[in-house]
Amino acid sequence: MASLSVRKRYWARALVGFRALSDAPVSGAHRALAALERMGYIEQLVTQNVDRLHQRAGSQRVIDLHGRADLVSCMSCRYRMMRHAMHAEMARMNPAFAHLQAGHAPDGDADLEMDFSTFKVLDCPRCSGILKPEVVYYGDVVPAKRRQAAEEGLQRSQAVLTVGTSLMVFSGYRFCRQAHAQGLPLASLSLGVTRADGLMAQRWQAPITPVLEHALHCLQGNARSTRPGDPGVALVP
Ligand SMILES: [Zn+2]
Repeated sequence: MASLSVRKRYWARALVGFRALSDAPVSGAHRALAALERMGYIEQLVTQNVDRLHQRAGSQRVIDLHGRADLVSCMSCRYRMMRHAMHAEMARMNPAFAHLQAGHAPDGDADLEMDFSTFKVLDCPRCSGILKPEVVYYGDVVPAKRRQAAEEGLQRSQAVLTVGTSLMVFSGYRFCRQAHAQGLPLASLSLGVTRADGLMAQRWQAPITPVLEHALHCLQGNARSTRPGDPGVALVP
């Protein structure tokens, strides 16, 4: 963050790459999780993703553990602005960069290498401080309030289901350890192994969208035998 040349490279690549991240479509898995919440099966959804797709799919009880890629804030005065507004302003300031095309890395960066020295980075409109996406990066810590909110969700839950995550990042894995210590049953649904496999009562190594859609279908068929309001699962997708 302290290096202007690093920030120039970061924002120039983000200007190109963020378009793909913000255009990412809601998947069947997002929709199935939102439906499960409406049916009373999900007490708290905790996501490590920063793309807000769970909210776009209709989930309301969401904690964005690693923040939001669609917001930026000032490191000095905490001024906040929408990311698309910052990008629009930087596109205006950098016409030579605004229309570049590149492949996309999974984190929203563009796969782009060039001379970034002429790129102009937008500073805080209020105090000229450094603007940074409201995302927890490697080396950052999850804000304590957010972590506590997830822990409270865990207290209200009767089980934990992890979906589509290897849990290699400690910020998500910690909740599995806490749930296990509380005696809650854990299950995972993902294609690969997870860091918490030793804690799991049940593991499904399978593609997540068809399994969640099938589970939803079965639960809808049994809707009359379920008890609405019975707290369901906390999730760590
Ligand atoms: Zn500021």
